Amino acid sequence: MFLDIGVGILSAMFVSWHFDIPLTFWLVSAGIMFALLPDIDFVFYFFETDKITGYKHRNLIHNPLLFVPAGAILIGLLFGEIFAVLFTIASFLHFVNDSFGIGRGVRWLYPFSKNGYAFGYLHSRQLKWGLWKPVFIFDEKYIREFDEIHGDRDWIKNIYFQPHIFSIFEYVIFIVSIIGLYFYVRK
Ligand SMILES: [Zn+2]
Repeated sequence: MFLDIGVGILSAMFVSWHFDIPLTFWLVSAGIMFALLPDIDFVFYFFETDKITGYKHRNLIHNPLLFVPAGAILIGLLFGEIFAVLFTIASFLHFVNDSFGIGRGVRWLYPFSKNGYAFGYLHSRQLKWGLWKPVFIFDEKYIREFDEIHGDRDWIKNIYFQPHIFSIFEYVIFIVSIIGLYFYVRK
């Protein structure tokens, strides 16, 4: 989440710089909202009984090939080109963020494939330094098997409430975005 907020702020700064428009409170808020929006289905996750990794909430909206263009068109019609570009960048980066660290990949090729794809690093209950691999491919049929080994029911606590390679990365990006915002607005 901190990563998404940071990325939302950075996206708004980029759009402001690119279109040479002032970085308003609304632009920054929209950037943050767009970067968080795909996780709106997370509310359903809280009603789930089987909370093993949080990946389940991602099946509804986390389909970038559909979500990003459909959302960009809708936002473009409602709020114009600049907000459509901001939406495209922020929501695309949300899916990039979701493609490593936590979860069981993003369905990057849906509706052509239901497989989830993750890249680089994934948290594991078993391994202190997690799993490292260029590409993880998750076939729905094998996710349960994978979770029995690596799934972590306390992933929120174990990642965010103690020093963890992934949460440190998130906090760093978040802090960088706040410092960047401060200097951008001041200049
Ligand atoms: Zn997400």
